[in-house]
Amino acid sequence: MTKFLRYWGYLAFALAIFGWVTHLFTFVVILVLSVAAVGYSLLGAPVWCGAITRNRELCRNNSTGVLLGCHLREHKWQKIKMTFAAEGWRTINRGLWTSPREGINTVTGLAAVVSAVAAGAATAITALH
Ligand SMILES: [Zn+2]
Repeated sequence: MTKFLRYWGYLAFALAIFGWVTHLFTFVVILVLSVAAVGYSLLGAPVWCGAITRNRELCRNNSTGVLLGCHLREHKWQKIKMTFAAEGWRTINRGLWTSPREGINTVTGLAAVVSAVAAGAATAITALH
């Protein structure tokens, strides 16, 4: 069960897609599910740390989410700094595709952003009518 709970973000995203396909949910529900999936991808998904080690390789310690580093404090700082530095984005991008697991998380996160924007627009349009 704990293993299942670690992957709840993918379930939220799957439910959002289910909502788009079946029209069983209102757009607000889809919006909430999509935003949750984006947050999960950035902060909660089990991925590699991806910070640069002294050997100029990507750190492969387990970490949660794209934005956070592993248990090493230096790596946490490095990832925060990379987020705000333009040249860091290339390194972060490398870290997003280190393995199929990271790739799935990245794709899910990006698709969830699209889903959230679309659901937000749909909610606004519905509210205006
Ligand atoms: Zn690390």
